Amino acid sequence: ELTLGVMGGGQLGRMFVHAAQTMGYFTAVLDPDALSPAGRVSHHHIQTGYTDPAGLQELAERCVAITTEFENVPAQALAQLAASRPVSPSAAAVGIAQDRAAEKAHFVRCGVPCAPYAVIETQAQLDAVPDNLLPGILKTARMGYDGKGQARVRTRAELQEAWASMQQVPCVLEKMLPLQLECSVIVARGADGQCVHLPVQRNLHRDGILAVTEVYEGNLPPALAQRAQAAAKSIAEGLGYVGVLCVEFFVLDDSHPQAQGLGGLVVNEMAPRPHNSGHYSLDACDISQFELQVRTLAQLPLTPPRQHSAAVMLNLLGDIWPANGVPAWDQVLALPGAHLHLYGKANASKGRKMGHLTFTGASAADVRATALQAAAILGIEAF
Ligand code: ATP
Ligand code: MG
Ligand code: MG
Repeated sequence: ELTLGVMGGGQLGRMFVHAAQTMGYFTAVLDPDALSPAGRVSHHHIQTGYTDPAGLQELAERCVAITTEFENVPAQALAQLAASRPVSPSAAAVGIAQDRAAEKAHFVRCGVPCAPYAVIETQAQLDAVPDNLLPGILKTARMGYDGKGQARVRTRAELQEAWASMQQVPCVLEKMLPLQLECSVIVARGADGQCVHLPVQRNLHRDGILAVTEVYEGNLPPALAQRAQAAAKSIAEGLGYVGVLCVEFFVLDDSHPQAQGLGGLVVNEMAPRPHNSGHYSLDACDISQFELQVRTLAQLPLTPPRQHSAAVMLNLLGDIWPANGVPAWDQVLALPGAHLHLYGKANASKGRKMGHLTFTGASAADVRATALQAAAILGIEAF
């Protein structure tokens, strides 16, 4: 009986558990929440904090290898596990992805352009911010996700005020860029250095949260997609990365004066794990991002995933849940090529990721049409 372990019990852990179990592994999840989406479906659920020595020891004892499903697991805990078991991605790689300043320095090292930025840890650094970074977005260096821990600032006064309201924690200020579109790439890299990737995802965010992902031929100019794949691969290689990595990109409107000198493609951030934008691979590819995670963790071969269907994924946020009941799944599931994924979360609060819905079909036109029908049924804004 071989057991694979995962730090964190959210929906990404749940889908990892499903993939691992499909391939015959037992699973262990460490998460303090008794009702965590992954803990509830795992063979073992270790209900301790992420740094609890007894919890970490039990995870290490049960498992042949351990991964993580969210980037805010303390890198220290991963380092402790790594003393006795293979851990991928490594504590060092996760540590870089956890800190926007370290992450951006890594992008620069790899020669991949990111938005002009300044690190702000002191009042003097804030005062020294060049004018051309405004208007900008102030982002906490650590712990932010789904647009949390961010403030858009137009002036120095607003910048000063935003930093004060963030309790002056370490931040980066990024120049606000004119985005034409956003895309992301999932790469998987094995311990032997072999690297494969999924087709490039085109993403639409609303209020800082991923809303829609579209993946089909023609979703992006092919040359751009190739550059994004090459950049993601070099970012993974530069980290000596083992596991699944998602790199998010901005594509700039090149006609805009602010964009000049950056080329079209700018890296935004990376996630050291499978990513919401890669969920379409469960239904539209012959190897999903979660199977890639299992394969990299268990040191199994990687083969290039092939997408067999056009796909549109809609995120299902708590916003669309009626007060007493559930959305009209019966109407949605009557549409062709609908794949409903729910994460088993009880409280449908605003902005909470409750599940996702992927439409697969023969063509971009087909999947866009059915996804738009589903959006209308569910009260999701059209795209
Ligand atoms: P995630 O949940 O993806 O980790 P996050 O909280 O880390 O999100 P970012 O990816 O930094 O947030 O930003 C969220 C969204 O805000 C981006 O996808 C993009 O739409 C917008 N955004 C962020 N930075 C910039 C920028 N410099 N210029 C223009 N838009 C931006
Ligand atoms: Mg992020
Ligand atoms: Mg992001």
